[in-house]
Amino acid sequence: MNLVLLGAPGAGKGTQRAFLVQRYGIPVIATGDTLRDERKADTPLGRQVAPIMDRGDLVPDDLLVQIVNKRLQQPDTQRGFILDGFPRTLAQAQALDRILAETGRALDAVIYLRVSRQVLIDRLAHRYVCRTCGSVYTFKPEEVRNLPRCPKDGGELYQRPDDRPEVVARRIDVFLQQTAPLIDYYSNQRKLENIDGQLPVEQVREAILRKLKTLEPANT
Ligand code: AMP
Ligand code: ZN
Repeated sequence: MNLVLLGAPGAGKGTQRAFLVQRYGIPVIATGDTLRDERKADTPLGRQVAPIMDRGDLVPDDLLVQIVNKRLQQPDTQRGFILDGFPRTLAQAQALDRILAETGRALDAVIYLRVSRQVLIDRLAHRYVCRTCGSVYTFKPEEVRNLPRCPKDGGELYQRPDDRPEVVARRIDVFLQQTAPLIDYYSNQRKLENIDGQLPVEQVREAILRKLKTLEPANT
């Protein structure tokens, strides 16, 4: 399965991808995670992208295309992959089609998680991420004062700096302006699977599974 997870920040891409990995046993390529790793390691790339990310803007296309191209040359992606956070612009989507075509591949589906602006803002304001395993949790406002540790591994939960309200508004605008055109792009390619991302997590998962089942070869 060659999949793209498409959706605004807070739409549930990170949450849903965990189960897709489990189910299909294919690697995730999450460009936001890659960039955060570069920053943590304090590489030249990391230093270059830090101020852009902290403003909530997009990193230049060529940098991202290079990262994803390199990753897609690795053999473990031959059996499939899940792209999370890429492509985010039309130029990136076109580059991706080209990269895949060069290696005789194509996308099977683009899963679009649709969520209203207000729900995104509410979710991101109370979103916390585990430092150890990257799991994402959303809390009610009153729970934030007494944050638990990650239930999976006891890791510390923290709020991403770009989840602060000022930056969140900017990131959602950037999504609407630069990434939302991909909905039409993939719809025209008959690749788009439209999912209501406001349903409870399990129902979103079921809806994704139902769509993907129709794409699996009948004998597997
Ligand atoms: P994410 O974790 O996917 O929300 O990404 C965090 C930040 O990394 C974004 O707000 C962008 O600044 C940057 N970023 C991640 N993926 C891309 C991409 N495909 N194109 C441009 N910038 C990206
Ligand atoms: Zn954890």
